[in-house]
Amino acid sequence: MMEVQVEETSTKLDFSQFGLSEKILQAIKDQGYTHPTPIQVQAIPHVLAGRDVMGAAQTGTGKTAAFVLPILEKIFPLASTSSSPARHPIRALVLTPTRELSDQVADNAFKYSKHTDLRTAVVFGGVDISSQKQALRAGVELLIATPGRLLDHLSQKNANLSQVQILVLDEADRMLDMGFLPDLQKILSLIPVTRQTLLFSATFSPEIRKLAQQYLKDPVIIEISRQNQTADTVTQMVHLVDSSKKLRVLQDVLQQRRDKGLSEQCIIFANSRIGCGRLARSLSQVGLKAEAIHGDKSQLERMSILDQFKKGEIDALVATDVAARGLDIPSMPCVINYELPFNPEDYVHRIGRTGRAGAKGDAIALVDPSELKLLADIEKLTKKALIRIPLPSGSRSSSSSSPPDQSDPFFYLPYESHQATSPQASEPTTKSITKTSSPKTLGALLGGVKKT
Ligand code: AMP
Repeated sequence: MMEVQVEETSTKLDFSQFGLSEKILQAIKDQGYTHPTPIQVQAIPHVLAGRDVMGAAQTGTGKTAAFVLPILEKIFPLASTSSSPARHPIRALVLTPTRELSDQVADNAFKYSKHTDLRTAVVFGGVDISSQKQALRAGVELLIATPGRLLDHLSQKNANLSQVQILVLDEADRMLDMGFLPDLQKILSLIPVTRQTLLFSATFSPEIRKLAQQYLKDPVIIEISRQNQTADTVTQMVHLVDSSKKLRVLQDVLQQRRDKGLSEQCIIFANSRIGCGRLARSLSQVGLKAEAIHGDKSQLERMSILDQFKKGEIDALVATDVAARGLDIPSMPCVINYELPFNPEDYVHRIGRTGRAGAKGDAIALVDPSELKLLADIEKLTKKALIRIPLPSGSRSSSSSSPPDQSDPFFYLPYESHQATSPQASEPTTKSITKTSSPKTLGALLGGVKKT
C-alpha cells in the first residue's frame, strides 16, 4: 500500500493542475473555489489515475469534491444527450450512511455537473419512493444512495449496477456502526469486481481496515490529519455548570454572542429526541427562532427545517447526533454541546459542523458534574485540552468565586484571542496544545484576572 501523509497546510495550488475538463472547471469557479483543499490535492490525481483510495479526512475538508470532481471527469466522456435510459446506465455509485449526507453529496454533485450532460440522482429512505423510481428508470450516470433504499430499488429492478465503474463508500466507519455491513456486502456483490473503489472514513479502525482489505485493491492511503483530531480552526470551550442551570446558561451564552455582534446561528446538540424537542420549545418561549431536528421527525420535516436554517430563518438548530454528520452549512459559526455525547467520537463529528473549509468556529460545551468523565474521554481522544472559561456574567450566582465582570473581558472575543490552553491542561501532546498563549490572552480567558 502506498501511504500519503499530509499535514493540513495551505497548499496554494490551482484546480487547473488536474487537467479537468473546461465544463467541470467552470462549475468549480461558479462555486467560488480558488484553490483545492489538501484532500483534493492528494486524492484527485489518484482517482483520475484509476487507483483505489482509502482516505481519512476531517469533516469539512472538502472531501466530497475530492471524489465527486474526478468521478465526473472520468465519466464525462460517457455523457449523452440521448433521452434513452439505456444510454444512461449507472457508472458511478456513492453510498452514504445517512439521508442527510446523501442529500448533501448529491447537492454538490448537481452543482459540479451542471454544465455537463451527465445525469445525477439521489435515493434515500423516509421519503416517497415513486419519484426516485422515475428518476432511476429514466437513466442516471451518477447515483448517490443510502444502502437500504438502494436495495429496495434493486429488488424492484429500478436500478442495475452491472455497469458501475466507480464505487465510493463515504463515511464508511459510520456505515459499519449503523449495521450496514450485510447491506453493503449485498450491494458490492452486484458491482463488477473490475471497478475502482474509494473509501472515506473519519477513522481507520481495525474494522475499516478489514473492509478495505476485502474490497479495495492496493489502495493509496491518504491521511490528511490524524484520526479523531478536531480542526485547529475551531476554538473549543467548556463552561462547567450545574445541570439545573444549563438552560439559563445557554440563554446567556446566546445573548452574549448577540451582544458581541457574532452571528446568532448555531447548532445545539442534545442526546435525546425528547430533550431536543423540549429544549427547542424552551428557547422558542424566550423569543429565539429555534427548531429541533431528530429521528422522530419525518424526512420531509427535517429537510424543510434544514432548508430554513440554511436560509437563516432559524437561529438555533437543536439536534441529536442524527444531524451530527452530513450537514453542510458552510458558514456555521458555532456549535454548542448542551449535553456531551456518550461516545467521544461523536463529539468530533458534532463540532466538525463548525470551522469547516478553513473558516473559524466556536465549539462551546456546557458540562455538568455528571459529564466530567465524558469530558475526560473527549480530551483523551482528541489529545486536546478544552478551554475552561467562566460562566457568562448573567449566569454567575452571587456566591460565585469568579470576579465581578464589569467589562466582560473574556467572553467570545474575536476568535484569535482564544488560542490559550486550559490552566489545567494535561501534558501537551499535539501541536495544537503546545501553542503558548500570551499572559494577556490567558488573563482574558480567566475573566480578566491574571493568575500567576
Ligand atoms: P465537505 O468536507 O465535502 O463536506 O466540504 C465542506 C465545505 O467545503 C462545503 O461547503 C464545500 O462546498 C466547501 N469546499 C469544498 N472544496 C472547496 C474548495 N476547494 N475551496 C473552498 N471551499 C470548498
